[in-house]
Amino acid sequence: MTWEGSDRRARLPHDWALRRVRVLRRDGYRCRQVFTTGERCGAPGSEVDHIERGDNHDPTNLQTLCAHCHARKTAGEAAEARRARPRAQRTREPERHPGSL
Ligand SMILES: [Zn+2]
Repeated sequence: MTWEGSDRRARLPHDWALRRVRVLRRDGYRCRQVFTTGERCGAPGSEVDHIERGDNHDPTNLQTLCAHCHARKTAGEAAEARRARPRAQRTREPERHPGSL
């Protein structure tokens, strides 16, 4: 199995299993998601999420989430990525040449 050419975000350190367990223990296996109301989810959780997307696998960038909150966050990030993509499909107004005005 090769990691070259695979999705950058899917790359995890060799000691990921250990890091994951440490984060779960630190958080007491409880979801750390904070809702817009300021309340913490607190549901039993066994999924470890990267707070900031990317390759920072430091415990400070990791948190425990329940399956529900993790799915929601992942869906939100995917939607964000879709929005960030250039809208090539959109019908464009024909561009007028600046010199023809
Ligand atoms: Zn949760």
